[in-house]
Amino acid sequence: MSEYSSPTNFIDLKAQQDEIRLEIDNAIKRVLDHGQYIMGPEVREFEDLLKNFSSSKHALTCANGTDALTLVLMAWGIGHGDAVFVPSFSYVATAETVAQVGATPFFVDVDLDSFNMDPESLKQALVDIKSIDLEPKAIIPVDLFGQPSDIDSLTKIAKKENLKILIDGAQSFGAISKQRKVGSMGDATTTSFFPAKPLGCYGDGGAIFTDDDELASLVNSIRLHGKGDEKYDNVRIGLNSRLDTIQAAILIEKMKIFPMELLERNRVACKYSENLRECVRPPVISSDHVSAWAQYTLKTNLRDELKSFLETLNIPTQIYYPKSLSQQSGYKNFLSVSSGLGNSDYLPKEVLSLPMHPYLDNSEVDYISEKVIDFFNK
Ligand SMILES: *Cc1c(COP(=O)(O)O)cnc(C)c1O
Repeated sequence: MSEYSSPTNFIDLKAQQDEIRLEIDNAIKRVLDHGQYIMGPEVREFEDLLKNFSSSKHALTCANGTDALTLVLMAWGIGHGDAVFVPSFSYVATAETVAQVGATPFFVDVDLDSFNMDPESLKQALVDIKSIDLEPKAIIPVDLFGQPSDIDSLTKIAKKENLKILIDGAQSFGAISKQRKVGSMGDATTTSFFPAKPLGCYGDGGAIFTDDDELASLVNSIRLHGKGDEKYDNVRIGLNSRLDTIQAAILIEKMKIFPMELLERNRVACKYSENLRECVRPPVISSDHVSAWAQYTLKTNLRDELKSFLETLNIPTQIYYPKSLSQQSGYKNFLSVSSGLGNSDYLPKEVLSLPMHPYLDNSEVDYISEKVIDFFNK
């Protein structure tokens, strides 16, 4: 195969923008014309699109994916003296939000194949918590790299102990588990519209999905400073956490190509896995799941060498994540499961994410794969 000449992007937001630039320009112009920058009509319109897409009863937007988690924890009244179970292999926001509301993050381990919360580890954590002076309140499974969590197993375990389930779907909007869309599972699901997420805006944004009317109404109040029925009547402590109208207008346009982009991400992932099956351990997606493929993440004990080798060929890669949460200085004093966080501590040494976006063509995927194979055959 001939050398691939133009540089490969890890994530190609420019190619996506080229597809819909005119529509985006017009959408932004409409907002500038009507001038309703906060909670303008596009916000409601986008929330309706989210609701329909995810088959959830309510979709509420907010300022970012971290606030989305915080808003739900606040609505549930979770705080000081409470424990919330989170996977130790995730992005920091999952644990940060728990600590932010004054509760204690309790780290559980992840499964090596799916990278997601391991139900067996959660079981052990629920035994451990009985001898600790904290009230277990909720679990936050994270759909890491776009694959839904094993929600049925987690639900069985959590519901026995009356725990709420808040799914962190920051990376998995658009994914499916047994015909159920992300957004329609758990007691609530959150997502992020950070630019690099599968559905990203041109700034910060987030959303909460739930079928629970009371939760939706609380979240709506809390995102608007704890407002009551009247505008300047504040009935609870809230946050200022809204999605900008301009971002909603951009996201409405991006939603039009999102189903196509999800198919393209799956095409890229399939092609990588087909090509690489022989030489590395490609990501494992359960046959019950369709991933949103936020990342395509390999595991290899030659990770650092492979990363440097690809760098010399201008093939960008990323390490998600170089440290588990319980290994981070800000988080190492929180609780963790007595059976240990072996997988969460091991994965940071082996994971490597390859370029992944809907605009990678098959020849680029073949080129990158060929170089990975060359590395292992050296
Ligand atoms: C990105 C991300 C978040 C936070 O989203 P922001 O919009 O950046 O606040 C939370 N959890 C996970 C797993 C993420 O990847």
